[in-house]
Amino acid sequence: MSRVLKPGATLGMLGSGQLGRMFAIEARKMGYRVHTFSPASDTPTGQVADVEIDAGYDDLDAIRTFARGVDVITFEFENVSTAATDAAAEIVPVRPSGHALHVTQQRAREKSFLALKGFPVTAHESVTSLEELTAAVSRVGLPAILKTASFGYDGKGQHRITSEADVDTVWGLIGHQPAVLERVVDFTMEFSVVAARGLDGGFVHYGAIENQHRHHILDLSIAPARMPQAAIDEAVRVTHAIMDELAYVGVLAVEFFLARDGRVLVNEIAPRPHNSGHLTFDACVTSQFEQQVRAICGLPLGAATLLRPAAMANLLGDVWAGGEPNWAAALEVPGVKLHLYGKSDPRPGRKMGHLTALADTVDDAVARVLAARAALGS
Ligand code: AMP
Repeated sequence: MSRVLKPGATLGMLGSGQLGRMFAIEARKMGYRVHTFSPASDTPTGQVADVEIDAGYDDLDAIRTFARGVDVITFEFENVSTAATDAAAEIVPVRPSGHALHVTQQRAREKSFLALKGFPVTAHESVTSLEELTAAVSRVGLPAILKTASFGYDGKGQHRITSEADVDTVWGLIGHQPAVLERVVDFTMEFSVVAARGLDGGFVHYGAIENQHRHHILDLSIAPARMPQAAIDEAVRVTHAIMDELAYVGVLAVEFFLARDGRVLVNEIAPRPHNSGHLTFDACVTSQFEQQVRAICGLPLGAATLLRPAAMANLLGDVWAGGEPNWAAALEVPGVKLHLYGKSDPRPGRKMGHLTALADTVDDAVARVLAARAALGS
């Protein structure tokens, strides 16, 4: 038990957005201290952390100083460099590891890892030139999607190719940069498996969570997902195997497609708590954020049991278009919980908060969360 970081220890968070904020809320609830590091101040995480450091991720001296003040480091977004995690790891454990981050922070690398290890993915090829793209189109087949090799967030940096005539234009649209060409999946649902793996290799998961996107941004998440149990079991098996393969410590989300032919295919991996897991905060015995605290501290993982069917609706900056939302009207809907991230500038497309609704059935949870979100504009 000597590896356990007991309450009172200090947890370091690289990144300062809403994921870090919800992590910090759970950590503080359990008696831990939280320090956050990012190139900003008065951040969503900083507002609830004990200490907020405002410095750049490429300032390795600042990273080392930060590491000296904490007992373990984790991160809440993928764009932290390996140099930064390596510098931190000289001083304290980094969980999940810099290796797991490295594999999952670049799309081409992640897709190669998945394919090499035999995990189910759609046909794809990495390309670095127009010639390679043209050749890849004939092998992968159409329709296909060209995505930048580095992750663009929320569907940015990706374009569809439906005929060979599109190839030139789409290569230009993504800026002639290294990319991955993927065959379009004919899917009936998008879903995710959020799971945690402990220092001792223990594993818990939240089953399948159904995800609906709008303009490539997550809009609604629904648990449990309305899909066949055999597909859920297969997705959980794949998620567990990916985590074992990465010797992963912490929370991870795998985004899947449920193909029309019944197969489950991995779309991408998020090496951290995930937007689709936000509903676990209100709907599960142990939230994804508490699991992250437990995992990185070497504590036993908590029960991931879903207490009631739940649905989560994101609140983007667009919700503020007509002025301050009517919070009271939304909270009048039974079973609804409000989460706001402490961001002051509600730009369109910016994730400002979310609503979660609990109910006796999945359909009722969806109806409630949509009614509550609609009421915000009343
Ligand atoms: P990504 O940024 O890769 O998660 O893609 C954003 C969204 O684009 C996904 O949630 C899907 O709705 C869609 N998408 C991405 N890749 C594919 C694919 N290979 N086939 C069909 N739809 C896709």
